[in-house]
Amino acid sequence: MNYDLNTTYPLMEDFYTIQGEGFNTGKAAYFLRLGGCDVGCVWCDVKESWKAEDHPQVTIAEMISRIEKAKADKVVITGGEPCMYDLLPLTHSLHSKCMVCWLETSGAYPLTGEWEWICVSPNKFKAPLAESLQQADELKIIIFNQSDFEWAEQHAAQVHSDCVLFLQPEHSVFNKVMPMIVDYVKQHPQWRVSIQTHKVMQIP
Ligand code: SF4
Repeated sequence: MNYDLNTTYPLMEDFYTIQGEGFNTGKAAYFLRLGGCDVGCVWCDVKESWKAEDHPQVTIAEMISRIEKAKADKVVITGGEPCMYDLLPLTHSLHSKCMVCWLETSGAYPLTGEWEWICVSPNKFKAPLAESLQQADELKIIIFNQSDFEWAEQHAAQVHSDCVLFLQPEHSVFNKVMPMIVDYVKQHPQWRVSIQTHKVMQIP
C-alpha cells in the first residue's frame, strides 16, 4: 500500500548529523524532530517542541526531498513525542526510498509505524505503555539521582530479553551522577553507559 505523500506532520526541525547517544551512537543519521509533547520530562532539553501548533506542517514528500538532498540513508524520528501521531504513512514512505527508520519515544503512546530500531526512554510523569516496552530494541534510562536506578530496574523487568539497556546521566548533573552510573554498571553489567556525545562533538 502506498500512502499519500501530501500527509503532513508538525516538524520542529530537521538536520543531518551524527546520532550522539544510545545504541546507534556515532552513526550518521537525518533527524526529523516532530513538534507536540505532553509528557513533561523535567530534564527535557527541547521544551520548545511541546506545542505542536508552534511548528509548520510539512509533507512527507518535502521531508523525503530534504533527506535525499542530504544523501542520508538513516532517519531518526524524534520529538516532541512522535508517537502522538500515526507514523505508518511516514515510515512506510521512507522505507519505499530504502531509508532506515529509527524511533526515539517515551513509550507513553501506542507505537505506530515500521521500524528498524526502537529506543524507549521512559519518564516519571507519563508512564510508558507495557506494549511499547515489549517492542523496545533499546531501553534508555536518564539518571538524575540515586533513586533512578531502582526505577530503571522496574522498566528493565518489562522489556524483552534482547533489549539493550542503557543508563545515561542527565546532562545538568553529569558530574554528580556519572560516578554512580560507573559503579552501578560495574556491579550490574547487563547495563551499558550512554553519554550525550553530540554535546562533546559540539553538534546538534
Ligand atoms: S518526551 Fe521528549 S520532548 Fe517530551 S518532555 Fe520528555 S524529553 Fe521532552
